[in-house]
Amino acid sequence: MLVNPATGRRAKMSWHAEEALHSVSDLLQRVKGFSGESFYENNGVVRPALYPEIGFDFKRAPEKYNWPEGWIQWLEQEEFTSRFPFFENAHGGLIIGKGATVKGSRYIKLLSQYLEANGLITIYNSKAEYSQTDSGWKIILSSGETAQSESIICATGSSLLKDPNWDFLPMNSIKGQTATFRFNENVPLNSSVSSLGYLAYTSSSPDELVVGSTYEHNFEDLEPNEKGLNYLKDKLNSSLPGWSEKIIESDQWAGVRVSSKDNMPIIGNHPHLKGLYVFGALGSKGMIHGRYVAQKIADYIADGKPINSAISINRFV
Ligand SMILES: Cc1cc2nc3c(=O)[nH]c(=O)nc-3n(C[C@H](O)[C@H](O)[C@H](O)COP(=O)(O)OP(=O)(O)OC[C@H]3O[C@@H](n4cnc5c(N)ncnc54)[C@H](O)[C@@H]3O)c2cc1C
Repeated sequence: MLVNPATGRRAKMSWHAEEALHSVSDLLQRVKGFSGESFYENNGVVRPALYPEIGFDFKRAPEKYNWPEGWIQWLEQEEFTSRFPFFENAHGGLIIGKGATVKGSRYIKLLSQYLEANGLITIYNSKAEYSQTDSGWKIILSSGETAQSESIICATGSSLLKDPNWDFLPMNSIKGQTATFRFNENVPLNSSVSSLGYLAYTSSSPDELVVGSTYEHNFEDLEPNEKGLNYLKDKLNSSLPGWSEKIIESDQWAGVRVSSKDNMPIIGNHPHLKGLYVFGALGSKGMIHGRYVAQKIADYIADGKPINSAISINRFV
């Protein structure tokens, strides 16, 4: 997965990018220290402008947003092509110095172990339902266990859309597929790439790329499919021409991202039900925003610190 502070076709600086990056970097470092495993690299993101119009927008990005020193640099076509000759179709490009690439499934596993070592109780493979009681909330797990709490945070991703308590929130879910491709030689990159889709690269797996992702607004199931695979091979080829022929092995994954009407996360308390909170709508930015926004809901519940209006549930109440 990419931690990319300059997303979209205008390379817009993501919301509170500096604080959010600091927040996730701190967590990544702690999990690395705990596990002794290198599951991420601060290797930046290179953004080739594969069409002249994209180049026009990218070129303006460094001036348009208030970037911290050294985060972003635009390179004109000649310089970009001499540094990155394998992007045959680039009309210049951006170098985002502050991005990172994370081996997502490994991270989630190690993060769980780290949190468990610090007292978190986790229960897997069990569906949770919840109901209000006189003193708060009761969680009932499909395994039969129950828990009682004053407060409950619903952070159930796309299941929020099916939860009647949150049906007033304007959210939608978009299926996405990624493909992990292994090649018969090392990829000529030293950072990840975000152009039309992304190519996630780490130097510890130099013959491998994770290519993402599809955006499927209408979907019937959550399985990866052939259509997705072909789409992702095309994405690979438009960034690195000829590389789809070098694939020797591929693996696929599919998931759902949830977005709000204004594409910002939603956190806060239910307008009528005391002790019921929501955390969600991270869209495609779970890595850069997840840790930061989680801190904000914790600060709100534990210390009563107000939530920034840009991410507060109040904008939809
Ligand atoms: C193809 C694809 C590629 C992506 N690539 C990137 C990337 O490179 N960088 C990035 O920053 N973001 C990326 N994202 C987005 C990122 O995955 C999301 O922003 C993030 O996962 C949202 O986190 P969440 O915790 O809100 O929801 P989720 O990750 O969906 O987690 C919700 C969890 O709740 C569980 N759950 C739901 N209902 C129940 C229930 N009743 N009982 C118990 N458990 C329940 C679910 O099983 C799930 O584990 C990508 C998304 C997709 C689909």
